Amino acid sequence: MAAESIDTRNAVIATALAMNAAGINRGKSGNVSARIDTGFLVTPSGMPYGEIMADDIVAMGHDGSHASSRRPSSEWRFHRDIYAARDDVKAIVHTHSPFATTLACLDRGIPPFHYMIAVAGGHDIRCSPYATFGTQELSDHAVRALDGRRACLLSHHGMIAIGSSLQNALALAVEVETLAEMYWRALQIGEPALLPPDELDTVLTKFADYGK
Ligand SMILES: [Zn+2]
Repeated sequence: MAAESIDTRNAVIATALAMNAAGINRGKSGNVSARIDTGFLVTPSGMPYGEIMADDIVAMGHDGSHASSRRPSSEWRFHRDIYAARDDVKAIVHTHSPFATTLACLDRGIPPFHYMIAVAGGHDIRCSPYATFGTQELSDHAVRALDGRRACLLSHHGMIAIGSSLQNALALAVEVETLAEMYWRALQIGEPALLPPDELDTVLTKFADYGK
């Protein structure tokens, strides 16, 4: 195994552990992947994150094939399809974080109630329609909900955050969960007013400048 591959495998494991330590995922649900030249590395199915060793991370080809003794995460299809659809994506974090998932269970995305919504790349964070976990249908819905965005909610399921690195994808997942919690809290008191599209464009422009 190439040293670079071991480093990336360990980084995938560290991100999965950090996801649970940050409180945005619990137990074995959720999964993490990173793009490599030959496809992507993804967490295995059904293993507690604390027990995953570098060898357990599954290397999948662009076509979803793999030669590992471990089975890949049951959600490998949306990982494969997001990498295929988006050249800019180098890492994917999927969680069942409590507040984002609560909104998703009501088929609610996150509207522009707070300027930080723009961190996901657009004017809102969409909630994709429901489909059974692990299916091609779910993957198709997820790719569509991510169009022009770096995060989406999955109806009656959870959320996906994508990024230019594992660190960025994880940080975005934490940010999406924070927005979901604030939106949920605001809804306990009333219906928050939404920021207008031209203000969101201003924020998106400022965010783009930060990145330079
Ligand atoms: Zn899931």
